[in-house]
Amino acid sequence: MRALILSDIHSNLQALNAVLDSAPEHDIVWNLGDVVGYGANPNEVIDRVRELGHVFVRGNHDRACSGLTGLQDFNPVAGRAAKWTQIVLSAEHTDWLKQIPAGPIMPDGPQVSCVHGSLLDEDEYVMTVRDAWLPLHEATTRINFFGHTHLQGGFATNGEEWFRLTPRYHSRDEPEEFELKLRDNVRYLVNPGSVGQPRDGDWRAAFAIYDDAVMTVTFCRVPYDVRLAQARIVQAGLPDRLATRLRDGR
Ligand code: ZN
Repeated sequence: MRALILSDIHSNLQALNAVLDSAPEHDIVWNLGDVVGYGANPNEVIDRVRELGHVFVRGNHDRACSGLTGLQDFNPVAGRAAKWTQIVLSAEHTDWLKQIPAGPIMPDGPQVSCVHGSLLDEDEYVMTVRDAWLPLHEATTRINFFGHTHLQGGFATNGEEWFRLTPRYHSRDEPEEFELKLRDNVRYLVNPGSVGQPRDGDWRAAFAIYDDAVMTVTFCRVPYDVRLAQARIVQAGLPDRLATRLRDGR
């Protein structure tokens, strides 16, 4: 079974299209949340991801943009984008966002969990080994996929040593892959990266493929029409920063 793992698409239709056009063969799609927020095409992105299947966990932007939670925890730029998204979303799409379950969910038996933030708190940012310690210590599943930080990579432990997982690439503008072999007796927290707003200094759309037959996670990056995504953001009257940051990958 090969799962295409997407996270933090953030209404970026151009990035999502590039990912789906280039994604290697897969049997199922798992989505780790923040389908909307920040970008200019929330309705089109929801239409596209709903065609991909039913495995979703909700993100904090999915909750805020559908009115499930308030905007008090959002910075001013994120708050403006969430308000704009609330206005332009169709009623059907708002209802669809509201019904997405909170993580963790187990989409594939006893071995795998999917969450947005942390296994223990859907809104927590797992940025460091220190952040990863408690969730991985408490995890009942060995392979755990998370998003929220927009940083591709993750963490692993064999119970004694802890490892940071950092994909290595050779170019800045080409499609690329980095394969991680999953070892026995190691627990993993793996972030596929953000499709629509990467923050690891690499502007290319990020995603991952999990293959349980050969036990690998393949991290992928793909260039997309970032200028068009930026133009849509500016045309929509969203904050300029949301456009400029896309090319910086920050
Ligand atoms: Zn996000």
